[in-house]
Amino acid sequence: MPERIVESTKRVNVWQLLHAGGLAEGACTTLQIDHGAGLEGCLRLTCEGGDLVIEGGPRVAVIWQEWLPGCCRPWFSCPKCTRPCGDLFLCDEIACRLCLKLKYRRPYGDRLYRMRRRLLVARHNRRAIAAEIRLLELQMIRGTDGKRTDRG
Ligand SMILES: [Zn+2]
Repeated sequence: MPERIVESTKRVNVWQLLHAGGLAEGACTTLQIDHGAGLEGCLRLTCEGGDLVIEGGPRVAVIWQEWLPGCCRPWFSCPKCTRPCGDLFLCDEIACRLCLKLKYRRPYGDRLYRMRRRLLVARHNRRAIAAEIRLLELQMIRGTDGKRTDRG
């Protein structure tokens, strides 16, 4: 089995779904699945009784965790291991990154991804986070790890 990569695997992100209104009771969201992603065509997600029902797939519990007083954040409960996860990956089955043994393409892809997530939920320091992400991206493009290889 070829190694599967996080960055090229279709996923459902809990924040994106929340902001799109997909976590409201009775909400129905349709996701377009890219060609070659294993599951093809459209995927319909319906929020039913607090769970996310994936058409042709598992029923995913949504966990609401109070992380600050009066402030809740959602997690998907992985249909395989029930671990709370922010992303569900859509391969031949639907599960979290660990269950599907997905790897990051580059070691700092992990860091970059976490930072992009931080930016999504940030209320403060957005500009600082965005600047840091740009720097990391540049380093990735250059293939350096913080060391400058360009002249000047
Ligand atoms: Zn899992």
